[in-house]
Amino acid sequence: MDSSKRKDSSNTVFADPNSENNDEEKEDLCPGFKDADAFVKYGLGAVLSATKASASLPQTGDEYDFYRSFPGFQEFCERQGDKLLQGMSQIMQHHGCRSHMRDRNKLTGLEERFDLVVDSNDVILERVGILLDEADGVNRSQQPVLPAGFQAPKIVVSSWNRKGSGSGSRSETFRLLHAKNIVRPQLKFREKVDNSNTPFVPKIFIKPNAVKPLPSYFTNKQIRKERPEDLDVPAALADFIHQQRTQEHVEDMFSHPYQYELDHFTLTESLLSKPQPLMYKPLDETKCSFIETLEDLVALNEKLCKLSEFAVDLEHHSYRSFLGLTCLMQISTRDEDFIIDTIELRGELYILNEAFTDPAIVKIFHGADSDMEWLQRDLGLYVVNLFDTHQASRALNLARHSLDHLLKHYCTVESDKRYQLADWRIRPLPEEMVQYARSDTHFLPYIYDCVREQLLDFNHGQPGLLQCVWNKSKDISLKKYVKPIFTEESYLELQRKQKRSFNTQQLTAFRLLFAWRDKLARQEDESTGFVLPTHMMNKISEEMPKEPQGIIACCNPVPPLVRQQVNELHLLVQQAREMPLLKAEIAAQKKKGLTPIKKADVTLFGPHDTSRVSESDLHNCSTDEMPIKQGMLFAEDEPKMDVDEENTSGLVAKAKITQFEVPETQNDPESLPVGQMKARRIIESFENPFRMYLPSNNVHISKNAKFDPSSKIFEISKRWKLQSIEQQQKELDAKKKAKEEKKELSKKVADERKKAKQSYQESLQNVPTVREQAAESVKPGTKRERVASDVGESTPKPSKKLLKSAEKPEKTEPPPPEPFKPFDYRKSDLKVFAGNKPTDNTQFDPNRQSNDFRKKKKPKGQKSNSGGGKSMSYMAGKSDRGFKHNWPKR
Ligand code: AMP
Ligand code: MN
Ligand code: ZN
Repeated sequence: MDSSKRKDSSNTVFADPNSENNDEEKEDLCPGFKDADAFVKYGLGAVLSATKASASLPQTGDEYDFYRSFPGFQEFCERQGDKLLQGMSQIMQHHGCRSHMRDRNKLTGLEERFDLVVDSNDVILERVGILLDEADGVNRSQQPVLPAGFQAPKIVVSSWNRKGSGSGSRSETFRLLHAKNIVRPQLKFREKVDNSNTPFVPKIFIKPNAVKPLPSYFTNKQIRKERPEDLDVPAALADFIHQQRTQEHVEDMFSHPYQYELDHFTLTESLLSKPQPLMYKPLDETKCSFIETLEDLVALNEKLCKLSEFAVDLEHHSYRSFLGLTCLMQISTRDEDFIIDTIELRGELYILNEAFTDPAIVKIFHGADSDMEWLQRDLGLYVVNLFDTHQASRALNLARHSLDHLLKHYCTVESDKRYQLADWRIRPLPEEMVQYARSDTHFLPYIYDCVREQLLDFNHGQPGLLQCVWNKSKDISLKKYVKPIFTEESYLELQRKQKRSFNTQQLTAFRLLFAWRDKLARQEDESTGFVLPTHMMNKISEEMPKEPQGIIACCNPVPPLVRQQVNELHLLVQQAREMPLLKAEIAAQKKKGLTPIKKADVTLFGPHDTSRVSESDLHNCSTDEMPIKQGMLFAEDEPKMDVDEENTSGLVAKAKITQFEVPETQNDPESLPVGQMKARRIIESFENPFRMYLPSNNVHISKNAKFDPSSKIFEISKRWKLQSIEQQQKELDAKKKAKEEKKELSKKVADERKKAKQSYQESLQNVPTVREQAAESVKPGTKRERVASDVGESTPKPSKKLLKSAEKPEKTEPPPPEPFKPFDYRKSDLKVFAGNKPTDNTQFDPNRQSNDFRKKKKPKGQKSNSGGGKSMSYMAGKSDRGFKHNWPKR
């Protein structure tokens, strides 16, 4: 938007962000309306009546079913419904949002529709917000925003106010006050914000009204702060260091400082007896003081300490801060209102603990859950003797439990919650916001009287219900602030909420972006939503753009930090692209809500080194413990992990299977019984006729990582190179042996065949169980032709290949086949499973193969590097994930 067009301060920024010339002139802003006010008025009126109309539609259930039995009604509904959907999709398209349904299924389609709407809302509102920001930023030089109160007409702060307006009838001019105009309050904080990824430790260091004294850990805090060794680390970290030094206080550090007092808090009789409601004073007859100096704060504390109750509320800002900022505290006594600048007095507010923790003084809050956390986090304040009117409203079973409703119900006050989401960091505070803020507490003492009275009446004078509200309130005051901690699972928690099914690459992208965003947000002290809104993160993960420009294109509008670090982001997406592409595993993991456990990196020692892996470990690597790479603390810039994993997962051969996926097996030939070894050699003599269709082994290895000396894979690859020389020798010997044996074997094909038959017949006994296990993953008929595929795929000495794969992936082909008769062999195998449908030998089916392989080896209970029977592994040490992925889900 052009700033020059907004010289007129009465002009508005409520504008269609998509219309280019919308503020060319007032008339152009909203065609057909004289100004934005008129448009907003009209628009809100329309929305209101639409809402009303929809509310008066027949209710779902019987009522609706009844109406629907009239064809006229049905027809009308359908017509209107279509019209609405059309309108919605037009809006979506207009904003470049996806509006077409992929899922036409009636049930799931509805969900998708809902998602579409939510996504579009996000996109549109985000865009509006940022355009407003931009407009405001451009504008500020010409027009000082503050002091806002001096500017006519009224100012509505709506930087990212998504609520629009509650009272559409009031004509107001919208003007922006946005973060760009506001000096970051954090800069003024004496004690820096601690965004470190460490748990929150209470700020308290003095404990008024203590029954149990404050642990020495806290009382010594001030002294500790002076210790030079703690100065350059975040506060929590310093605490940890200290805690490590003293090896005590751990319990104290994380307990509620007033736990004991709250546990032993008893209600006096007066709190349970019927009150005489004391009417509030009219707002305009009530003194309102703004507290921004220590002196005033101390005076206020003195005042409060003499009272028997007062009401408290907080206003909070969360967009331009990682943890959030308490911006304002409102306190109302029966006679006065106080607005406390909690930004200015952040370090001093703890003195109010004297009144706040005095059990003889009731602190009235409405919906105090968040307030309790904010008080602790920013101000080191605690509450003993809390009464939460929200809990009272619940106990009374009122129609709604919001403060608006209580105000309407008890005070016949029409409140206007539009400032709730205003930017409360603004200073000086515009008059409207002051008025709003004080009305949040002004009426609470009276409401407190009313609800107590009603709670007693409700219960025929018995205090039970009221007691219950006190107890619930106490529980709320016992809440402890918990800092958001980044863990390897954090991204999954968020991802699960997205209702999107991501493949491994997309999920990796999501994980990496998530970690990037969290790290940057902590570092810059911005909210994660400011760094990169979740819907944009979804979009980037979903599309995984190949170019940095593509990342920009996923974000509209582009968050400043995304623009700044687009190359970094691009690298992350590239890294994700190097992940093996698996769909089913992720789906399965997601369904179970499990974080894939990565064991592979612990066992990174080379194909034959199982020194670090116990057999049970190997067997445990079943479906639940798929070695997929997972989030690590800020590990997004360590690209090697994916790669390692690719290899190591092969090494350890944690085979697993899911519904649609080809299991993977890798056997260590050395660990096989003699019989198995022989069988293995036979198998190894085969060249998989379908090998040519399989991707090379290292498709997923990042070449960069391999050649980057700083990367782990470089190290490993080097190690493997060294090992592989030895290995190659070994393998050569082994090959020679095998060849000799093969010759021998070829002479005794018939014998071998018998042996094989025998072994398979043995295995047949176990077939039912194996089948059962396989039932979900293998379709009927897959058992035919087991050996054929089995042989082909499992033959290559996987260990050797893996070993080599790090350096020369292309040369990992199995040894050239001897003049052998694999076909006969296969046929003979087929007979073993008599009664099966005619075999289709020409088709390679990894599922089949895996299944058969398992069947075959399970009976012998042989050791297996893979997950063994349980996880339905197959010896596809070589088969790639990409390859797996290419196989249809059958
Ligand atoms: P209140 O207790 O209603 O005054 O709200 C206190 C603070 O909570 C506000 O300053 C906002 O920062 C935040 N808040 C309240 N309602 C919402 C909401 N619907 N969405 C997001 N934040 C909210
Ligand atoms: Mn509140
Ligand atoms: Zn409030």
